[in-house]
Amino acid sequence: MYNHFDMKETDRIRNFAIIAHIDHGKSTLADRILEKTGSVTERETKDRMMDTLELEQEKGITIKLQTARMTYKYNGDIKDLQSEYILNLIDTPGHVDFGYEVSRSLSAAQGAVLLVDATQGIQAQTITNVYKALEYDLTIIPVINKIDLPNANIEDLIKELEVVFDFNRDEIILTSGKTGTGVEELLRAIVERIPAPEDNSGKPLRALIFDTFYHEHKGVIAEVFVTEGEIKKGDELHLIGSELNIEPIEIGYLTPSMLIDTTINNGEVGYIATGLKNIRQIHVGDTLTSNNEFKSDHLVPLTGYTKVKPMVFASVFPIETENFNEFREALEKLALNDAALTYKKVHSQALGSGFLCGYLGLLHMEVVQERLEREFNIDLITTSPSVEYNIKLATSDSSKLPNFNNANFNKAGEYIIKTAAEFPDPTLIQVIKEPWNNIEIITPEKYIGGIMELAREHRGIYKNMTYISDQLIHSQRHVSLHYEIPTAEIITTFFDKLKSVSQGYASLDYEYLEHRESKTVKVSIVVNYETLEALSFLSHVSNAETKGREVVKKLRDLIPRQQFKIPIQAAIHNKVIARETIQAYRKDVTAKLYGGDITRKRKLLEKQKKGKKRMKMFGSVAIPKDVFIEALKM
Ligand code: GDP
Ligand code: MG
Repeated sequence: MYNHFDMKETDRIRNFAIIAHIDHGKSTLADRILEKTGSVTERETKDRMMDTLELEQEKGITIKLQTARMTYKYNGDIKDLQSEYILNLIDTPGHVDFGYEVSRSLSAAQGAVLLVDATQGIQAQTITNVYKALEYDLTIIPVINKIDLPNANIEDLIKELEVVFDFNRDEIILTSGKTGTGVEELLRAIVERIPAPEDNSGKPLRALIFDTFYHEHKGVIAEVFVTEGEIKKGDELHLIGSELNIEPIEIGYLTPSMLIDTTINNGEVGYIATGLKNIRQIHVGDTLTSNNEFKSDHLVPLTGYTKVKPMVFASVFPIETENFNEFREALEKLALNDAALTYKKVHSQALGSGFLCGYLGLLHMEVVQERLEREFNIDLITTSPSVEYNIKLATSDSSKLPNFNNANFNKAGEYIIKTAAEFPDPTLIQVIKEPWNNIEIITPEKYIGGIMELAREHRGIYKNMTYISDQLIHSQRHVSLHYEIPTAEIITTFFDKLKSVSQGYASLDYEYLEHRESKTVKVSIVVNYETLEALSFLSHVSNAETKGREVVKKLRDLIPRQQFKIPIQAAIHNKVIARETIQAYRKDVTAKLYGGDITRKRKLLEKQKKGKKRMKMFGSVAIPKDVFIEALKM
């Protein structure tokens, strides 16, 4: 072990991430750690300081990762370690949608604190996160958290951790983020067990960008881990990947608030304020070096980051068409801080101008929509979510495509679509491919039957099932079920159904696998012989009819009667699969009014006219906008 007299600078640094399944208490424990190290005074403390976004506070989830630099004086049993340390804590989000955030934070750390909720045990993302941490070669400190809860199952869980991950009983630390129990012991373990970052102080600068966010006055802020050399105030910097030169306007550390400094040393985590206005100019995973050194040295970029790819797409429109500009500004502002959110302007006959947005998953979509509505006060309508289909065309003539002016093709020359409106005439299609995912479901064994049925209904292909251990948790053994399943099947109601068949006990993790050939069809919704693209959708042929019938029934109840009969149909490639009719509305509204009260009659007509303004004409049928909004709520 080191002698504190000749400790290197890097020896006094510990960079660690906190990983766990969602809700196992990461953010709460992070707050206790901040308090214990005196990084915040008790008075400043409000619950979950690390969750700074308003929505995070409210939903109790962590969306963006956050870092905090602290100083901690070690006074444990190991004499040679006694010194003051810089701890860099990186809180990570636990939800599946934000898995890429976890990968980023791990590449800036040498160790991981693995939290397991004493009442829940090992869950799907516990396992995924442990594998990720091992992939990055991190030292893992296993922690059983929430031990204050009366139904904590500590002894069972210790055995489970021994069997599943091969941890030793005596490495496991027991904590409560609520009462603070065990936090001091955890801090000592961080110093004792997590290796210091490698000492590369003499070398040319290389720093990994592992997160970005936007600051109103300082522009895009990049969070960096300096693996070699150091960053000094005033240095001209260069991004190897994007070949961009930057002159930071400020550098420093996050505590989590911004603390300005003049250097970020080797082995440290810090931030550089770039002054840039567009968050997409700085790519997470890129390598930062100094401008001069890059020219002379031809440094190789650092590796170890996962590229972000949106998985779910949906078009979003303002309910009031005249709010479009406001909506665009709000979306642009939000996207400043969310590099994973993609958007592209679209136009719909029914809903006007909007954006086709790409999200990491359903929670991401929900969070974005809620933030837009809440922070910017705009009512929005989102079309049903879709995935990205790749179509091998039977023709090389793209002028026959519905959107041939701006049709997208991938490297393999396949036509890429995300909405029903882009779906080509079936005769142009040779092969359609849809995305598939690997999913892992961890559940107490008594729910296996229900879950298997659910997976079958959603076209899941069973791969295998393993018992996590023979250990009983709440007198149940836990199993891990592996399936391959189309992404389209899990982006709507799958998660809710899984929770309901398992009474909330099953947990899910997923990752993209590949695009596979699929029997996907377009279900056109046709009202009075006019196709309504806003309500048409893409579906696997196996459940296209059922879904088509549902929409048609819904529309029959929603569209108001008019002076003539209105047929409503769902059709697959011109073949009608469902039909309903709205009967004609015979009486004139004003006929209700007996006699000659002319003002009442005029008032009523005015009211009708106003109502018509919110209607859209489709052929000769007037459909109120509310119908689209209601019909899309499925
Ligand atoms: P995260 O999703 O892992 O960041 O979890 P949070 O820190 O947001 O905590 C999830 C929920 O568990 C919140 O309602 C917390 O108040 C609660 N919680 C966290 N730690 C403890 C603990 O040690 N004891 C108890 N009783 N509740 C806790
Ligand atoms: Mg959290």
